[in-house]
Formats: sequence, C-alpha cells, structure tokens
Amino acid sequence: SLQEKASVEKVESVKWSDIGGLDDVKKMLEESVIWIYKHADALQRLGIKATKGVLLYGPPGTGKTLLAKAVATESSAHFMPVSIPELIKCEVGESEKAIANIFRIAIQCSPCIIFLDELEAIFGNRDSSGFLGKKLVSQLLLELDGLNAVDQGVVILAATNNPEVIDASLLRPGRLDKHVYIKPPTPEERVSILKVIGNRMNFAQDMNLEEIALKTEHYTGADLKALIQKAAFLAFKRYRHNKSITEKNICHDDVLEAIEQIKCSVSIDQLEQY
Ligand code: ATP
Repeated sequence: SLQEKASVEKVESVKWSDIGGLDDVKKMLEESVIWIYKHADALQRLGIKATKGVLLYGPPGTGKTLLAKAVATESSAHFMPVSIPELIKCEVGESEKAIANIFRIAIQCSPCIIFLDELEAIFGNRDSSGFLGKKLVSQLLLELDGLNAVDQGVVILAATNNPEVIDASLLRPGRLDKHVYIKPPTPEERVSILKVIGNRMNFAQDMNLEEIALKTEHYTGADLKALIQKAAFLAFKRYRHNKSITEKNICHDDVLEAIEQIKCSVSIDQLEQY
C-alpha cells in the first residue's frame, strides 16, 4: 500500500496551451523549474543554485493543479501527485515512511515532479500536542534538505488554499523557497480561459466571450468551466427534441441563462485573506 501511496503518472494531457491566463506564473515556472530539466548541464556548469520547490497558493479552482501537471508535461518529467490529507490518514509511523518512499521513488524514476496537494493538511494535528504533525513535517524537511534538484532531477511543487498555516521552516531558502500567489483571473484572463474551454466544445457564431468575461467578475477558472458545462446542458435540452438541427452549438444566450444559476464560488472576504 506504500507503493500505492507513491504512484507516478506520465502526464500527457495538460499543456501550457490548456491553461488560460497566468502568463507571468507560466514564465516564472518555466525559468525556475522547467529549465532545471531542460538545461541541467548549463546550470551545473554555471553553478546556478536551482530551487528545490515552489509553493502555489490561492483560492480553490484557480488552476494550481493544472499548472503543476503542465510543468511536468513541458519538462517531459513524470508527475507524482501526493494528496497530503490521504497521507496523514496512514497509521502512526506509516506516514513518515510514505514520505521517505515518495522521495526514493521520485529519484529512481527521475526526471520527476512531486506535487504535494493541500499541503496545509500536514499541520492538521492528529493528537492534541500536534506531535504527529511535527514528526511528519520534520520527515519532509529531512527529505527536502537531502535533495539536489539539478543532480537528481526532482523538483517539488506544492499547493495550498491556506498559506497562513504553513510552518515557516518549510518555506525557508533551500526548501519551498519560491511562493507564488495564483490569483483569480482578470477579465482578459477570463476571455483566455473561456477560449481554452471552448476548444473542446462547440460555441455558436453569436458567442461573445468578451461580454461573458465582463459578466463573470470573481469567477475562477473552475467556476467558468462549471458555467460552460451548465450552458452546454441547457443547449442540449433546447436541441433534444429538434432532430432537424444538425449544428448543435452552445449559444451566447445559453451562457447568459447559465450565469443566473452558476455563481462564483469564492467570496470577496475569502479573497482578502491572500
Ligand atoms: P484546488 O485548490 O481546489 O485544488 P486548483 O487551484 O488546483 O484548485 P485546478 O484543479 O487546477 O484548481 O482547476 C480546476 C479546474 O478548473 C481545471 O481542471 C480546469 O478545468 C479549470 N481551470 C482552472 N483554472 C484554469 C485556467 N487558468 N485555464 C483553464 N482552465 C482552468
């Protein structure tokens, strides 16, 4: 079962072009992570100290998991997703072993990206003293301190909705030392995200994505995805009884109707936390 906890995926599906907006974040990840894999020899020669890990933080549904998968794809690296809430469910002592195992396997099958999702859960105390949480964190620190990203071809990406609770010791230089806020999209970014979503669906000629973007203030990428799914379903219901129509597309009005039903999931109060 430790083996199951440490499974490796070859991610083919998510590419940079599948992510709308976030251009600055993509550039930063290109230079700080992807170059570790693409230009390892030059970095070693020049003595450039690469980062071991990047923390992506921000509200849910803004594309953190998508970014991590795309970094793996664009680096031609394996992708090793680790759900921290799953990990801490292990028997006492097993979680620490699982962390050691994850790093061992990642190094064996390098190049590899380890993705620690919901990192804040590592601080969820299973006993009142928080002792078990502390043991897990110190195991993670041990592994991070022993890692050499360039030589071993392993980089850590971590994601959290709640950066406040992450222990400062994990975020120091030489550990998860790059921190990037993944913001909800701007109106222009919402247009890009809607275009990406539209690539795999069929929008009618009358679709005006700029107008949709202006009507979806505070929507995240995940909210926009849910919105277009709703619109597609409404379109399906419209077309269901009309077999004579062969071009079954999602119309602008379908999206306007869907906006009445699918609201943004992150409140302004929540956004102010970041
Ligand atoms: P969580 O914190 O809840 O894990 P997350 O930030 O990791 O959220 P993702 O799982 O990456 O969010 O995004 C959820 C879904 O929303 C994606 O699978 C994708 O369909 C859509 N999505 C989010 N952001 C974008 C984006 N920038 N471009 C295109 N699609 C997006």
